[in-house]
Amino acid sequence: MPDARDEYPRAIVHFDGDSFFASVEQMLDWRLRGKPVVTGGERGAATSLSIEAKRRGLHRGVPMQEIRRLAPDAVIVPGNYTAYSIFGKRMYEIARVFTPLVEEYSIDECFVDVTDAAVAAGMSHEAYAAAIKVKLQESLGITFGVGLAPTKTLAKVASKLNKPDGLTLLPRSRIDETLAGIPIHDVWGIGGSMSMALKGLGIETALDLARKPRAWMDEHRFAKPVRVLALELAGVPVRTVGGEHAHGFKSVMHTRTFTPPSSDRAFLFAQLSKNLEAACVKLRRRGARACTATFYLKTQEFTYHSVQMTFHVPLNDPSSILELFSRRFHEVFAPGILYRATGVTLHTIVPNEAAMPSLFGKSAEEERRERSLACVDFLNKRWGNDSVFLGSTLLAMRERTDLVRSRAKPVSRRRNFLSCGEGSKKCLGIPFLGKVR
Ligand SMILES: [Mg+2]
Repeated sequence: MPDARDEYPRAIVHFDGDSFFASVEQMLDWRLRGKPVVTGGERGAATSLSIEAKRRGLHRGVPMQEIRRLAPDAVIVPGNYTAYSIFGKRMYEIARVFTPLVEEYSIDECFVDVTDAAVAAGMSHEAYAAAIKVKLQESLGITFGVGLAPTKTLAKVASKLNKPDGLTLLPRSRIDETLAGIPIHDVWGIGGSMSMALKGLGIETALDLARKPRAWMDEHRFAKPVRVLALELAGVPVRTVGGEHAHGFKSVMHTRTFTPPSSDRAFLFAQLSKNLEAACVKLRRRGARACTATFYLKTQEFTYHSVQMTFHVPLNDPSSILELFSRRFHEVFAPGILYRATGVTLHTIVPNEAAMPSLFGKSAEEERRERSLACVDFLNKRWGNDSVFLGSTLLAMRERTDLVRSRAKPVSRRRNFLSCGEGSKKCLGIPFLGKVR
């Protein structure tokens, strides 16, 4: 029997909610349980499908017309992203009861490092991972694909292997047999062009990459991400849970798709402005500024037109950045073309302290701007997001209000009883307190 420390030098668990959006819908409305539920009604294509819908051969991205034809009894619902994000936050909080080492990876995924917490609880790593899985499923009413492995990359590989409701153990002694069956393009972090390049060099499976020695990497001049990936696949932990995101985060991104698509310049600029405001809020919350930015428009045909720029001084103030965006907006926008999304990424992030604007401290103008941004942040925190926003964002806000009205979602008036993951502007119609047993 191999020693636990040899099998799991680090014990990393990856949790991935099964059919997450559709499962949340089924948990919040008992009438949907056991039925083929498809979310994404507002987008015209499926974004998530319940297990019952998947059994009928439907999958993500299929147009709703096609869904109606293939499964006339499918229940199509518009996405309720507020509810999904509340469930996501609860997932992180439940995991944090077991250990603080939780990385919020996406709305329905997280990584948990249980190496020391399991030992402290006198449990095996397997039993500890299983205990978190049970607690998540009981509290949220949703099943999870779970993978336990010595590295993040292997845990992510493992969680996919027995879906839905699986717990896959991938200790070091089982790496070879498991990776031999995983095509290289299925590995987390390998994009289309990288998988083509690797296949050109004879790398067909994850195991082929895990076995490549350093000399081979040097010979083919692979950059650090591929080297890290190969080590992680071989069972050598390089990526730490929470490390990259909790401290030195590299970029902030904000994107939004709208329906129907639009060719209205003012409306598209307002959408861009709204995304930028949201990205800047994230920066200010973390006491940081960005030195570079990319913004893009995405057409109805899914092509992207983007502009990248570098600022003279690090910024986190949306009106200054927007002025720079407006000068180059014509490079991404063409009249008469239908666009379906805009997005902003702010990168090369530095802490506020590293961004002193001049040798003699802050200018009066800088002081004034900082004070007004602090007021905006205070008001939005006190009265809810989007209470105060730039005039350039107005058209995007109007569109949103109309959409909310047309969907006529019940607005919760609860104030005194907010459950985990909820806020005054973001709560469920009826509080969800877990699955009834
Ligand atoms: Mg998922």
